[in-house]
Amino acid sequence: MMNEIQRAKIINRTLNKIYPNIVVPLNSRNVFTLLISVLLSAQCTDVNVNNMTKDIYPKYFKPKHFVKLGRKKIEKLIKRIGIFRVKAKSIYNLSKILIEKYNGKVPKTFQELEKLPGVGHKTASVVMSQGFGFPAFPVDTHIHRLAQRWGLTNGKNVIQTEKDLKKLFPIKFWNKLHLQIIFYGREYCKARECYGISCKICKACYPDRKKPLITKKA
Ligand code: SF4
Repeated sequence: MMNEIQRAKIINRTLNKIYPNIVVPLNSRNVFTLLISVLLSAQCTDVNVNNMTKDIYPKYFKPKHFVKLGRKKIEKLIKRIGIFRVKAKSIYNLSKILIEKYNGKVPKTFQELEKLPGVGHKTASVVMSQGFGFPAFPVDTHIHRLAQRWGLTNGKNVIQTEKDLKKLFPIKFWNKLHLQIIFYGREYCKARECYGISCKICKACYPDRKKPLITKKA
C-alpha cells in the first residue's frame, strides 16, 4: 500500500496533466473586486457570481464606489444570490474600513485580511493566493472532501486538512494545486458520487480498490 507522500506525488502529476493551465474561476478586475467576489461566492457557485458581477464591476470596482452606494443599494445589486443582506453589509463595512484604515487598498497580510468583516481564513487565503500570488492553500469543501478520499488527511476539519496538505505538497505548487483539486472535485469527484475504479487518480493511488467509496453526506 502506498503512503500519503507517494499518493501526493501521483496526484500532483495527474492534475498537472489534466489541468496544465489554470484560470482563476472568479472574474475580477483588481484585488478589491476579487475580495468582493470571493465573499459573494459563499454558498453560491462561481458561475452565478460571475454572471452577476459582470454588470457590477464595470461601474463599481473600488471601495469608495460601494461606500457611496450604501447598504441598501448594494443589497439591490446583489439580491439575486444567497444571503445577500449579510453579504451587502459586509461589503459596505469592509469598503469603509479599507478607506479609513488602508487608504482604499486591500491589505496584504492574513492578519489584516481576516479582521475585515465577512472575511474568514479561507477568503483571506484565496485573496493572498490568487490576488497577491502569496503561497496559500485555501481549503474549501471540495478540497476537504478530496483530501480525505485520497487519504491525504484524516482531519476532521478544514484547519487540519490545510496543515496536512501544506506538509505533503511543496510550497511552490500550492497556488496552482488548490485550484486543480477544486476543478477535479467539480468534474470527477463529486460530493454525492464516487466513480471508484474508473477515476485516474484513485486507479493510480489505490490499484487494489474493487468498489467505489461509500460516500458519507458531504
Ligand atoms: S474514485 Fe472516487 S474518490 Fe477517487 S477520485 Fe474518483 S470519485 Fe474521487
